[in-house]
Formats: sequence, structure tokens, C-alpha cells
Amino acid sequence: MTQWQYTKGLHDLGDQVYAYLLPDGSWGWSNAGLIVGGDQSLLVDTLFDLRLTRDMLDTMRAAVPAAASIKTLVNTHANGDHYFGNELVHGAEIIASQACADEMGELPPERLAEMMRAAPSMGELGAYLSEILGPFEFKGITATLPTRTFAGRLDLHLGDKEVRLIQVGPAHTRGDVLVYVPDDRTIFTGDILFIDGTPLMWNGPVANWIKACDLMLGLELETVVPGHGPITDKRGVEAVKGYLQYIEAEARKRYDAGLSWTEAANDIGLGDYSAWGDAERIAVNVNTLYREFSGDPTPPAFADLFGTMARLAKRGKG
Ligand SMILES: [Zn+2]
Repeated sequence: MTQWQYTKGLHDLGDQVYAYLLPDGSWGWSNAGLIVGGDQSLLVDTLFDLRLTRDMLDTMRAAVPAAASIKTLVNTHANGDHYFGNELVHGAEIIASQACADEMGELPPERLAEMMRAAPSMGELGAYLSEILGPFEFKGITATLPTRTFAGRLDLHLGDKEVRLIQVGPAHTRGDVLVYVPDDRTIFTGDILFIDGTPLMWNGPVANWIKACDLMLGLELETVVPGHGPITDKRGVEAVKGYLQYIEAEARKRYDAGLSWTEAANDIGLGDYSAWGDAERIAVNVNTLYREFSGDPTPPAFADLFGTMARLAKRGKG
């Protein structure tokens, strides 16, 4: 068991490294980080809306003097729950992988705001969207994109503290990045790790994600801050790797047997993993695996993915 409490707010990990956690870690409830070295501070990700991000920045400034002026913001990937608050980090250089920056424009906050306005007339799908995204406010957000991009690896220095950005995507999304602080044996993983919640593979390939887990298992690591869920250690990395290997094998069997992706998503038993939250994400994961197996480059229809998840989520509760 980890020594860290899973409570909302700022957690001091020691040596001027902090995690900001938002339980319960399900849809949109993401984690962020603050790394201070010398008189410089670096923020890892913002949150899903302006209110949440403002609360987080206020909490950080009250507890950590160096957070008064954040010079660097790293976005781990292109999902809104990791960058929609960017506009509040005034004057910061915003760093992401090039692939992440390219993906960010595709689902801007206005689209989510429109979708939430339409949700009441969208039946079962709308009810599901309202349930998972209803707590957030997408109106009035100005998408604020990276000002500096890289591919592969980028080493930063805050005073004499090294911060290593390691691109491991495409995996969860197209340009996922890990933020590793070697001296403190600490890593911020973005959504390469969901802990106690079901991993969500929008992009794949699954082999890259498993490779990212192996990369982390090979690092000197004590403290692992996931994109969602409680702080963990290498056991959390092993758990996510196990889930990915399991669903890859189970989806492959059903693909080879000629089942459709929705049939496969319905059919795969989750065993021990059924205790993790948001189990309906199996739908997205199987869809992504099927497209990988068949070499189909067509992006899936949003309504198909979320409609299938809505049905599975309902079944899960029923
Ligand atoms: Zn996320």
C-alpha cells in the first residue's frame, strides 16, 4: 500500500515536489504536479475547467512561495482535463510534444460546451455524457496551446534539479509525455497511468503503452503520480501493464473468432479488473485494438464509442 492519502488538494512529496490530486479520479477528475528547483517552478498539467484550475493555483501559491510565478507548464497530453486551464498560468512557456500540440485543436472547449447543451435531447447517450461531464464548466474557456514543442526527449533544469520529459506516445493519446525527476525518484505519468480506474486507450498502439510501462519499471522510482487516481509506486505500473496485456489477448481471440468490436466489448469478462472504476472504457479499448488489428486508420465515430460506453455503464449498474 502506498503511504499517500488520496484526498483532494496538494500533497508534499518532499524536496519541493508536489502532487495535486482530484478524487475520485473518474472522467475529468485529473491530477497535476508542481516541481520547484532553485527559484523556479514547473507545473505539470492544468485541470478540466477554470474553476478547478484557479482553486489549484490558489492552493499552490498559498503553500509554496515559488508557485507565485510559474515559468514552465508541461502538458502531458492533449485531453482537456490536462490542459483546459492553461490560460490561467499567465506568461508561462507551455511545453508539450509536437504530436500532443497537433492533437489539442481537435476537441476544443467550445465543442464540449455545445455537446453539453445538446445532451438533454440525446437520450441514453446524453444522460451518460451529463453524468460524466456535467460537473465541469466548458463555457468561456480559451484554448491555450503549447508555445514550445519537442519530439522524443527534452531535459529541463530548474536550478540544479533535472526534469526529464520523455515522450512515450502515441499510446493513450498521440503524444503522451512522462515527467521524470530523477533526483527525487518521482514521476508524473499523465494518463499513461490510471490507478484504481480503467485505462483508456484512445489511440494506441497497445505495444507502445506496454513499452512505456516497461520504461518506467526500469527507472529509479519511488513515487508515481498517475493522471487519475491515488499516488502509487511501481506496483501501479505493473497493474496497468497487466490490464493492457489482458485486454489485448482477450480482444485478439474475439477478433480472430469474427466477433464485432461491440460484441467483444460486451463479452470480455473483466475478472479482477472489474473492481476498477469506469469499466465501460473496455469499449474504447476494444475499438482501438480492433482498428489496430485490421490496420483501419479511420477514426471511430464519437457517438458509437460513447453510445456503447453508455450501454455498458448502464448494464454495469443494473
Ligand atoms: Zn485525463
